Amino acid sequence: MPGFLLDLDGTLYSGDRPIPYAAEFIQWLRDKQYPFLFLTNNSSRTPEQVAAHLVHTGIEAKADEVLTSSQAAALYMKDAGLAGGPVFCIGETGLRQALAEAGFELLPEDAPAEQAAVAVVQGIDRSFTYSKLMSAVRHVRRGATFVLTNPDHLLPWNGELTPGAGSIAASIERSSETAPVVIGKPSPIIMRFAIAKLGLAASDIWAVGDNLNTDIRGGVDAGCRSALVLTGLADESNYAEQIERTGVQPEVVCKHLMELAAHIG
Ligand SMILES: [Mg+2]
Repeated sequence: MPGFLLDLDGTLYSGDRPIPYAAEFIQWLRDKQYPFLFLTNNSSRTPEQVAAHLVHTGIEAKADEVLTSSQAAALYMKDAGLAGGPVFCIGETGLRQALAEAGFELLPEDAPAEQAAVAVVQGIDRSFTYSKLMSAVRHVRRGATFVLTNPDHLLPWNGELTPGAGSIAASIERSSETAPVVIGKPSPIIMRFAIAKLGLAASDIWAVGDNLNTDIRGGVDAGCRSALVLTGLADESNYAEQIERTGVQPEVVCKHLMELAAHIG
């Protein structure tokens, strides 16, 4: 039986707008009883908020069908023996909640200098400041593991490109002279947790998304099947050039998700 790891923005919706055939595709998966997971690099939303946004764009979704890079970061840190913390977090609700729910103590920004964090966990933070940068750098220089939810340097936001989590991470990396452990797609870390959650062999799982560098690269590297949809970052006019430039070859290219359904049957 095939399983599916589904990207969100550019694949199932575009910002606030539905993408044609996306709701129909999810219904098709449910009718077929094919296991799937909504898999997102976005660390800012909680699984409940991700599901609510999907419902808002016309797609039936539940929080336990979601795996975010924030949840994967918390799982990774437990596996790495960092359970409990304390951790210094630079991020929004989705990341703070994932860490708190996983039992991590979150250090305040103004924690006394002698309070050492075992990890600095960073995602998108639209209230990022010099003072947060200073705290993060202090902890990492003293040996805290630097964990980054997702490497994206730029985020589409209301028609323009704004700095993403990867751009904040670059400032921490530069000052601390330490590269982060990257959790989100195409990292094998989030792929490993996603594949385990589906409970299928990687070779039975389709990685589906609009981004060759994250969705498809992550899938290919993890030994999954892969389908590029031309409804977001990749579209009909640019996908051939993007495949050439990234060197990432999806198994299937489809104009929309129901084309993938027809391919799989
Ligand atoms: Mg996408």
